[in-house]
Amino acid sequence: MALIKKFGKPDLFITMTCNPNWPETLHELRPGEEANDRPDLTSRVFNMKLNALFKDLLQNGVLGTVMADIHVVEWQKRGLPHGHILIILRNQDKLRDNSDYDRIVCAELPDKSTHLELYNIVTSRMLHGPCGALHPSYPCMVNGACSKSYPKTF
Ligand SMILES: [Zn+2]
Repeated sequence: MALIKKFGKPDLFITMTCNPNWPETLHELRPGEEANDRPDLTSRVFNMKLNALFKDLLQNGVLGTVMADIHVVEWQKRGLPHGHILIILRNQDKLRDNSDYDRIVCAELPDKSTHLELYNIVTSRMLHGPCGALHPSYPCMVNGACSKSYPKTF
């Protein structure tokens, strides 16, 4: 509340989630271990990547000059950390219209022909399925139906 009183409302709410398949984690696992077996390891790798994100946000100003920030790291039920970050930008970098938001947020699949690595990351981490009759052994499937109620209507 003191930050908001001094700098104004937050402009960005960023969530960063630990990826159990980050190479830095997989490289250090012992045979038979999974990332959620090693909170000592996942927390170190997550912290290293969170600090890299902070460097981009706070020092390099990739989304604008940051006047104030606050964050919290929590552990999900499956044992992996994720961080929530609030960012308050300087007045001239605040997001005011659709073109400002379009400059920093994209909710479209990356172009596979020009950004293959990004396309693979987004489609492997941000999409559900395919599940259902075509993939009855998909992890979400319970008693022949998707436990997350996919597919959903538009
Ligand atoms: Zn499903």
